[in-house]
Amino acid sequence: MPEETNSNEEFRASDGTPFWELSRFPGTNRRFGQERRLAAWLWFNKAVGDIFTMNELRDALGPNIVGESEHLNRRLRKLRAVGWVLPSYKDDDSLKPDEYRVEAKGVRYWLDEDRKAHKSFSPSRRTRRLVLERDGGRCVVCGIAAKESYPGEPDKKAKLTIGHRVPQERLRTRGAADDLDNWRTECAWCNETVRDEIPDPQQYDEVVAQVKRLSRRDRRTLLNWLHRGERTRSDLDRVYDQSRALTHNERESLITHLQKQFSSDDN
Ligand SMILES: [Zn+2]
Repeated sequence: MPEETNSNEEFRASDGTPFWELSRFPGTNRRFGQERRLAAWLWFNKAVGDIFTMNELRDALGPNIVGESEHLNRRLRKLRAVGWVLPSYKDDDSLKPDEYRVEAKGVRYWLDEDRKAHKSFSPSRRTRRLVLERDGGRCVVCGIAAKESYPGEPDKKAKLTIGHRVPQERLRTRGAADDLDNWRTECAWCNETVRDEIPDPQQYDEVVAQVKRLSRRDRRTLLNWLHRGERTRSDLDRVYDQSRALTHNERESLITHLQKQFSSDDN
């Protein structure tokens, strides 16, 4: 039954039952979840690019497993969260309403690979430290530093986290490696954006087009930053950082000090 694409892999559990027909883990009472059966069936019976329908799933897995389309959709969502790319007619005009396509296969759910996969989603402490250092301790999206307030929202203090530049699932479906370059410092607010809705990083041509719009002076600064491999902070940026590190009272005094200068300028 399994197609040649995955025929070198074991499609039967230790008791000889194909994974997609199991209801319990062999020799235990532990339920073998429906997502596991669904993932196993797709993995061994569909090649990348193949289309499947709900009726096909009902035939293969039995009517009890698929049930309402809402149940099926919930299961498909679970698979999509672990690297499976399964567009429906909503994502792709060429598909009929009950059709889905296997665009990429993800985590082999039936082998409990999802647990291992989730582990690799969180960075090691070393990665975290390196990325924070490299990014100068600031959110690369909006530029905020830890404990700084958001513009116009004095009570909302930034927390820094590190996140993926390109979602890990997407990298995996492209067969690309996940490395330090794919991590970046983000504040919790910027990180909250649903990752799948973030477009891919700008294409080279788009970046070049924007570079052309910069002033000559800005282009020179950009060149310097690129040469150094980091954004150098100006004197102003540095003094701002130092000012923020002052105590609240000292900062208030500094504000008063500056305000006095400006009110005397005005006169
Ligand atoms: Zn941010």
